[in-house]
Amino acid sequence: MTDTKEILADVPTGLLIGGEWRDASDGATIDVYNPATEEVIASVASASEEDGLAAVAAADKAGPDWAARAPRERAEILRKSFEMLIARKDDLAKLITLENGKALKDAQGEMAYAAEFFRWYAEEAVRNISEFSTAPSGNNKIMVLQQPVGVSLLITPWNFPAAMGTRKIGPALAAGCSVILKPASETPLTALAIAKILEEAGVPPGVVNVIPSSRSGAVCSAILADPRCRKLSFTGSTQVGRILLAEAAKSVVNCSMELGGNAPFLVFADADIDAAVEGAMVAKMRNGGEACTAANRFFVEAPVVEEFAKKFAAAMEALKVGPGLDDGTDLGPMVNAAACRDISALVDDAVGKGAKVVTGGGQQEGVGHFFQPTVLTDVSDDALILNDEIFGPVAPIIAFDSVDEAVARANDTEYGLIAYLYTGDLAKGLAIAERLDAGMIGLNKGVVSDPAAPFGGTKQSGIGREGAHDGMMEFLEKKYIAVSW
Ligand code: NAP
Repeated sequence: MTDTKEILADVPTGLLIGGEWRDASDGATIDVYNPATEEVIASVASASEEDGLAAVAAADKAGPDWAARAPRERAEILRKSFEMLIARKDDLAKLITLENGKALKDAQGEMAYAAEFFRWYAEEAVRNISEFSTAPSGNNKIMVLQQPVGVSLLITPWNFPAAMGTRKIGPALAAGCSVILKPASETPLTALAIAKILEEAGVPPGVVNVIPSSRSGAVCSAILADPRCRKLSFTGSTQVGRILLAEAAKSVVNCSMELGGNAPFLVFADADIDAAVEGAMVAKMRNGGEACTAANRFFVEAPVVEEFAKKFAAAMEALKVGPGLDDGTDLGPMVNAAACRDISALVDDAVGKGAKVVTGGGQQEGVGHFFQPTVLTDVSDDALILNDEIFGPVAPIIAFDSVDEAVARANDTEYGLIAYLYTGDLAKGLAIAERLDAGMIGLNKGVVSDPAAPFGGTKQSGIGREGAHDGMMEFLEKKYIAVSW
């Protein structure tokens, strides 16, 4: 067990605006908790609207110089940032666990993933390729440049405190944008620690500003209403995404939205059931179920439903639940008390409507927000758990009888982030993948996240993509120049 003080020793607690670490204009602070002990571990400056606008001014001032730098120079600063994150990944992983609760091995996985976005976008920064063509009429030469969209507001959730930030900062900086990062109030420390590393890696003052705030709505509205802010990149719930889209509409701000999910996980009778269980464990339990990509609804073909449920429940039961920093912990606490209550309410509703608890079933007694790994079967169609994002270690299993039924049930949701399917017949799997209404498909795979792949959803799971080349395009705008010579 590492000492909390040691983990927090070099972590800043101020706002980063224009290269200066400072207190909030009105002295407000946010208490940060360790969800395993429920103790306050730090107090971080909480930005006011005035601070938000100061960050816009700083980003606006720093933007033109950053945009004008050679792509290679921006790339090298990102590459240095990648190397520094890798060098400090173990300390940063402990920091993630301390403020978020997740098991240290999940935090280590997150850090490796988070750092990759700086390496990937260091490589993409030099690939902002323009277009040139002659119009069919022959009367026009069409030149299309891609220019940075400008000052970008980045808003991130608490479930991946490092990766959701680097997945936005990397492409924004590669494209030549300056940014204002508003991390989640539950987990601001990781973002502040990464910002300090970016400074050390050579990111100029004002290019990355970080403003934790417990007054997110007011501060972000003020920023979005400022004409100097030209981009919103948001990751979080669909509910808050809708509010922000309405705010952004007032000044027609360019928006990229990574929102909630309700992922189906389909298991066909011809699948390798052991492989499906292994995939289900990753798809459900990576990050303790607190992931937008977490499998939320398990649809299993009737002849194998019993076998799958039994093996899956055994794997869930084998997990070691405990403080994330303890050796061997597989499942840490949920992020806060409200998260535990919400998960309990979904389980209770399902059980009240006839679901059977195969394993788990509730919150753990005592200190810390621990929830038992839970498997439910015979879940009725009207159970809320099939409609709402669970965001915890609970797996509802439902039997199905045909491909058409499985596809219809999988698509019967307002979300479309990701769907998983397991089958021994690859051609059948690809045909079904085409019919699933989701931005990403895990075909015989329980995890799809990859910095080199386009991440994002259809329907109310979002607009736009992060990662891949697409991620940088979200921070670029085309400029068409009609040329005559
Ligand atoms: P959330 O409540 O929507 O909060 C996300 C961020 O928005 C936080 O920084 C939050 O700040 C801020 N926020 C809240 N209300 C706001 C407002 N009115 N104006 C401006 N900002 C506001 O989501 P969460 O609970 O942190 O994260 C879980 C959600 O994120 C889940 O739905 C999950 O599916 C989704 N998610 C999606 C992806 C993806 O890539 N699609 C990835 C990860 C997570 P405060 O913390 O200060 O409230």
